[in-house]
Amino acid sequence: MKDLNVNRVEFVKSAAAPAQFIRSSVPAVAFAGKSNVGKSSVINRLLNRKNFARVGAEPGKTVHVNYFLVDGRVYWIDLPGYGYAKVSQRERERWAALMEDFFAAGLFQLGVMIVDARHKPTADDVTMASYFKQAGRPFVVVANKLDKLKKSEVEPNLALIRETLAIPDTVALLPFSAEKGQGREALLAAIQAVL
Ligand code: GDP
Repeated sequence: MKDLNVNRVEFVKSAAAPAQFIRSSVPAVAFAGKSNVGKSSVINRLLNRKNFARVGAEPGKTVHVNYFLVDGRVYWIDLPGYGYAKVSQRERERWAALMEDFFAAGLFQLGVMIVDARHKPTADDVTMASYFKQAGRPFVVVANKLDKLKKSEVEPNLALIRETLAIPDTVALLPFSAEKGQGREALLAAIQAVL
């Protein structure tokens, strides 16, 4: 299968309700992660862009599911970030309802769950991981901000992430740095595998 041409990418739409989710025979990859984990930066790194997916936008402001079409061959779905402390209860509930709907609809072929390589995953991360596990679709976990770790911290931190999220052995845990580019090829290969 021809490599994905990541230079061909377009923003398609922003969905605020299940009726707006894209239903298509084109495969889709769903990216999830808590606010500030670097989800936009990971997507931008994959695309070799600086500002395609927003970076550093006010976290938790909008609860939307954003769709990009890459190379006309795969949708990349940017799920709304979670776990931002200053978000109102109302917005939190909107997030939870939209995620329930999104996962119930099952409109993706691969999940990419992004966590912070430096820290033990949060309770919200554990919840998100269980959404992916229950979805019955393949998913990978990306441990971002690897550049912020000392070499000696990498293995123990990855082990803690795997254990805390209770990730099955079949699920890959990919060390990643959106800043430096480490892990880019491995994540692109996982995406390419569902095309
Ligand atoms: P999002 O809210 O998950 O979309 O996170 P952003 O992509 O906006 O990133 C949040 C902050 O983390 C920004 O200041 C980024 O520059 C920084 N960041 C993202 N990825 C990395 C990384 O791999 N390494 C480092 N050192 N910083 C990162």
